[in-house]
Parts: sequence; structure tokens; C-alpha cells
Amino acid sequence: MLLGHEERDREERTFADARAQMVEQQLRARGITDARVLDAMRELPRHEFVPPRVRRFAYEDSPLPIGSGQTISQPLMVATMLEALELKGHERVLDVGTGSAYQAALLSRLARHVVSIEIVPALARTAQSTLTRLGKGNVRVILGDGSLGWPSDAPYQAIVVAAGAPRVPAALVDQLDDDEGRLAIPVGEPSGQRLLRVRKRDQVLTTEELAWCEFVPLRGRAGWPRNGAAVA
Ligand code: SAH
Repeated sequence: MLLGHEERDREERTFADARAQMVEQQLRARGITDARVLDAMRELPRHEFVPPRVRRFAYEDSPLPIGSGQTISQPLMVATMLEALELKGHERVLDVGTGSAYQAALLSRLARHVVSIEIVPALARTAQSTLTRLGKGNVRVILGDGSLGWPSDAPYQAIVVAAGAPRVPAALVDQLDDDEGRLAIPVGEPSGQRLLRVRKRDQVLTTEELAWCEFVPLRGRAGWPRNGAAVA
């Protein structure tokens, strides 16, 4: 019993060291500067969000499988998207593609309220239980098609999409706050996308290209069908 505790403590320390290294080498050294994002990623245990068989790889510089053919994004990509949202703490955020709920849990600390939407029932269930276990009370997980957003809680000051879209879904732009909305979304082909930031300020839209990336395809009405061609 005592040994069990000691082993667990040792494992937690090893993971904490790995996390500190992840932040320095994978994030800060590659240009992530938002201190709130760096602190959140240094503290949140990423290993709690992945299946047991890949736990020991939780702090590596890569995406990892989370079941149902989906992945938890590479830490650098998560940090890039979170930084792009420029969160101060007062925002209501829509997180499309809950997956493991790692990003949702980071958002729960960076913003006031998070609505996270997932289209695969098994992932939504696991995500909800992970968030409950870790006490993330300001995140609501919804099972549904996030390519249409979630209008009943709109407007959102920030929206983030963790799956590659054929184009920017109109519903997401509509649900952005008119004065200070920002949307981070990968747009392009299933084989590779550009990470875009769309800002809505005084109802005017501007789009910037932030990085190249490779996300799993966005499904649903404004996403890709299973055979690969975009819905008109
Ligand atoms: N943010 C996640 C990354 C998950 S990968 C994390 O931190 O682990 C992208 C997720 O988007 C997958 O779980 C996939 O099932 C989901 N997804 C794809 N299309 C979707 C849609 N239209 N609505 C909601 N979720 C979607």
C-alpha cells in the first residue's frame, strides 16, 4: 500500500518534470509567449487525458491516439491555438472537437465559461467523466455537430476548432461576439491545413494565417463527409 503511494508520487514527479520540459523545449523555445497559456500547460496533467497504453508518451512532441480514430493534438499546436485566442479570463468560449477534453480543460482555466462540443458519443462520454474527475466545473460537454456551432450560448468571445474544415463555417462566424470575437480554425485539405484566426471587431472581419498544420477532418454539416469530398 505504502509502496503504491510512493510509486504514484514518483510517477507524478516524473510527469511534472516532463511537463516543465515540454513547456520550455517544445513551447517557449518555439515562440509561445503567453504566460497564462504556458502556466496552464505546465500545470495541467496531460497524461490524465490519454489512454493508459500511451500514458508514458504524454509529454512527447506529437499527437497521440485517443480512440475512435481520433487524436489529442501535439502540445505545440494546442498552445498555438490557445495563444491565438488572446484570452484574458472573462470570456465565454466554444471548443469544437472535445476529443480527450485536454484543450477544454486548459480553456476552463484561461476563460470564464467553456462549451465544448463533440460528435463521437464515446469520446464525449469519456471527456465528461475526465472533466468531472478533475473538477473542471465551468466546462459543459455537448454531444452534437460543432460545425454548426452551439447557438443557444452564443455570442462567444472565442471559438476554437480542433479539426480541419474545408472552409470557415458560416455558423461559427455568426456566433462570434460582434465587438471582440476571435476564431481559430484549421482550413484546407484533409491532408494539410492553414491555421486561421478570424477576428470580428465592430462587426468587421479580418483573417490572418498563423501556421501550417495537420488535423483530423471536421465532420458534420459544414465539414467533410466520410468519402472525403466537401459538402457544398
Ligand atoms: N481538442 C481535442 C482534440 C481532438 S481531435 C483534444 O484536446 O483532445 C478533434 C475532435 O473533433 C475529434 O474528437 C473528433 O471526433 C471531433 N469532431 C470532428 N468533427 C466534429 C464536429 N462536426 N463536431 C464536433 N466534434 C467534431
